[in-house]
Amino acid sequence: MKILANNLKRQYELYASEYEEKALEVLRSGWYILGKEVSGFEKEFADYIGTKYCVGLASGLDALWIAFRALGIGPGDEVIVCGNAYIACVMGITINGAVPVFVEPDAYDNLDADRIEAAITPAAKAILAVHLYGQSCDMTKIMDIAHRHGLKVVEDCAQSHGTTWQGKMCGTFGDISCFSFYPTKGLGAFGDAGALLTDHEEYADFVRMFRNYGSRIHYQNEVVGANSRLDELQAGMLRVKLTHLDEFNEERCRLAERYNTEIRNPLITPLKTRPGSNNTWHQYVIHCPYRDELMNYLRDNEIGTLIHYPIPPHLSEAYAYLGHEKGEYPITEKYANEVLSLPFYNGMTEEEQTFVIDKLNQFKPDQEK
Ligand SMILES: *Cc1c(COP(=O)(O)O)cnc(C)c1O
Repeated sequence: MKILANNLKRQYELYASEYEEKALEVLRSGWYILGKEVSGFEKEFADYIGTKYCVGLASGLDALWIAFRALGIGPGDEVIVCGNAYIACVMGITINGAVPVFVEPDAYDNLDADRIEAAITPAAKAILAVHLYGQSCDMTKIMDIAHRHGLKVVEDCAQSHGTTWQGKMCGTFGDISCFSFYPTKGLGAFGDAGALLTDHEEYADFVRMFRNYGSRIHYQNEVVGANSRLDELQAGMLRVKLTHLDEFNEERCRLAERYNTEIRNPLITPLKTRPGSNNTWHQYVIHCPYRDELMNYLRDNEIGTLIHYPIPPHLSEAYAYLGHEKGEYPITEKYANEVLSLPFYNGMTEEEQTFVIDKLNQFKPDQEK
């Protein structure tokens, strides 16, 4: 049996006729940029998450860098971010000339709030809380630290659509929250898309102006902005998918529960969920000290896997200019060598999951054979 790490076609097939109907409606409307689908989605998604404003953008990365721009964070300012975050999180900071200050992850693979204060310098302006893999950071601690030190908080919710902390939706804690709707995300479009959410009218206004060449009134440009508009077709698709998001999340919880209980190989440790957070299981991530060997073994058995992420941002070539060294963030680097994302997608069959579980339970590294 051949099993892909991710299989977007399955999720599409669950509600194909709804997407096709909406796509035709948008195509036949003759209106493709900033119209009723975008404004409808913005309202529905803000209501779903529980913020006052949502501004549709072209991608999650755009949401991040435009968020820092809106907050006035720029050259010389420092932003605290988890060392094992996705590279786009760091780019959202550095595109503005600001400097990422890396903090090691905790036992839940997310920003370790207990290490934040030691990383705060007089140049610190914000904390970027990335809710990695579908579960929440400790937002109680993070918001408390931010208030005490006068820092802004941006939430990166690209992997946490519908995740909650103490029963409250991720994306409602910080000054601004950023979402990606890249096709593999919990709420995924059929192309690139993103959004920025906030309760602050001034930020929402700025971003609406900024995403459209820095223009509120046609041909009058207040700042050098971006072309980062969510398009009508993607917004229409997202409106359809949003009505099924809870159901998709529930299905992923059921799949994760099965992996949690049936994987019984002492070398494979599933991700723990932080008490206080639910988990929408953006990925199903395990840790294994023989990760590369496990990955090759699964590949030989036609089981696809992915690594989120093999090179931590501080060791990426793109960030050589920051001058970090190997060994500087040992927990981050250890995680990069241990994590593996198992096949996991809406529409995964019981048979497929059984096959993966059996192979995992049979895995033995060479040195233990
Ligand atoms: C996917 C992702 C992004 C970037 O989103 P794009 O829409 O691909 O630009 C940023 N942060 C995290 C945590 C992500 O998973």
